[in-house]
Amino acid sequence: MTATDPTATDLAARVRAAVDAAFDDAVELLEELVAIDSTNPSFPGIDGTAAAGGEARCVALLEQRYLALGLRTERVASDPVRPNLVATLAGAGDGRALILNGHVDTVPPVRRETWTMADPWRPERRGGELLGLGATDMKGGLAAGWLAVRALRDAGVALAGDLCVQCVVGEEQMQHELGTSAATAAALAALGVDSPPDAERIGAIVLEPSSTPEPLSLSPLSAGNHVFRVTIDGRATHAGNRGEAVRPGGAGSDVGVNAVEKALLIVRALQELEQEWGQTRSHPAFAPGFFTINPGALHADAGTPSPAYLADRAELDVLAWYPPDEAAEDVRAELEWRIATAAALDPWLRDTPPRIDWLGNWPAASTTWEAPVVQALAQAREQVTGAPTPAPGPDHRSGFAAVTDASFLEAAGIPAVVFGPGDLRRAHSADEGIELEQLKTCAAAVALAAIDFCGVAP
Ligand SMILES: [Zn+2]
Repeated sequence: MTATDPTATDLAARVRAAVDAAFDDAVELLEELVAIDSTNPSFPGIDGTAAAGGEARCVALLEQRYLALGLRTERVASDPVRPNLVATLAGAGDGRALILNGHVDTVPPVRRETWTMADPWRPERRGGELLGLGATDMKGGLAAGWLAVRALRDAGVALAGDLCVQCVVGEEQMQHELGTSAATAAALAALGVDSPPDAERIGAIVLEPSSTPEPLSLSPLSAGNHVFRVTIDGRATHAGNRGEAVRPGGAGSDVGVNAVEKALLIVRALQELEQEWGQTRSHPAFAPGFFTINPGALHADAGTPSPAYLADRAELDVLAWYPPDEAAEDVRAELEWRIATAAALDPWLRDTPPRIDWLGNWPAASTTWEAPVVQALAQAREQVTGAPTPAPGPDHRSGFAAVTDASFLEAAGIPAVVFGPGDLRRAHSADEGIELEQLKTCAAAVALAAIDFCGVAP
């Protein structure tokens, strides 16, 4: 079937009309989702017991919505209070299987004084936007996915292949074993697909906000990252002994060493490495200079947060981005080497070397542009927007500027592409909002991609 086929054109018109007709319902679903506080209970600084249950309330709401469309639903829970939803619609023929993936958890709101909204969980319409925590990241994507499935149903489309919707927990803390990886194992079982599956016969669309370099770009590539902690020891003493500790002729490190200042040596070494990465690490789908090293949190004191001491312990938490075509181990080795070299140049750190704890590696994602799911979606987007869908490259830097569960779908052998409404720059920010019109474009493209990818029953 091609876009010029009159039957296909008629079908596409019906699907798009169904998207328009159900749009208000999708916006209502988005408002209901935003009104649920589904802050990831494992987020640093969050009271996990108090925050538990929000994800499950989102899952319950979405389950009702998918049951009403005739999908079979299953709750998949490694942690009983944090279930995922796996909703499936069996195909009427022998087409490819399509997975739609979105996460229900959000980050905590950024500093509340910076919001102009009265309450991040009370959605507000402003112009063509809906504001509220999670509107862009990524409850808008969940609503757009639902709108696509609803439009297929309302347009009377019977897909030949299976459709599976995953609404998952834990994404904001890379808890993929609780979330996407668990939901994917369940989805493959529910669809009766071998693991690993035949990559030509399955594909996934992750509905995160793919706004780089323009709204609703296709991002089959995303960078990898390492998160690590550098722990630096000093020697505590009374601040009155600082002269002895730091001036020439004093007792030096025998009396005290300030871990704050030793941590800054490591920060500086990482900044120099980051500067080099600006020249040495690049990828055609990412803006020049994208691959960076962020020293995002520094805690140091002598056990008491007071400047009356020289701090004897510093913990520096860092996130480093690397290109999708580079091995995680190589990047890790380079970071280790640079920290060790900086330490070797300082008399105290040479004898008291910093310790590195590797807290997490979010693998990169690199599905090819030629993968059937990417091609189906590229053509569907073109059909909906009337504009060509460019491939990632130097003229279209659509490598995803963050990380998503596409990496873990890929790890399960499923080609995956990120495509969803919203603006990534407004994620994790005050007055998070989404342009509602994008939900329509996204849903129409996803529905038409499903028709092309899964086929329709005769
Ligand atoms: Zn997200």
